[in-house]
Amino acid sequence: MSEDKIIIACKKCKTKNRIPVSRVNERPICSKCKESLAGIPYFTVNATDSMFQKEVMEHKGAVLVDCWAPWCGPCRSIGPVLDDLAREYAGQIKIVKINMDENHATAAQYSVKSIPTMLFFKHGKLVDTAVGALAKSEIINRINAML
Ligand SMILES: [Zn+2]
Repeated sequence: MSEDKIIIACKKCKTKNRIPVSRVNERPICSKCKESLAGIPYFTVNATDSMFQKEVMEHKGAVLVDCWAPWCGPCRSIGPVLDDLAREYAGQIKIVKINMDENHATAAQYSVKSIPTMLFFKHGKLVDTAVGALAKSEIINRINAML
């Protein structure tokens, strides 16, 4: 396998920059406009009810919220897929995981009755919901539809 790379989309000019994981902490800049790419999350965020407002509702852009639980087999199979997508879509969409066993307020607010459920937000507004373990290609379709 070649070196692991992440793709970070520049917030200013939208250029997609491929950056080796080993160099991501060396203050990467956009290859086109030289804008700093530092501080753009390229990993999934584990959030709680109390973090929901800041991580999801106040985020200016696209957020995928993964409602999961540790005992759920399909959830565990989706987890690594979402970790990959967080790297492939860094700067374009933020991926937030919320453990439904511990965060009942979020589950109640969005009527999450079965897991995994994915909630898609744009600028703090729920725009799409997907119930069940979607294939990676289907998750990508949904992400592209909202970008
Ligand atoms: Zn740029």
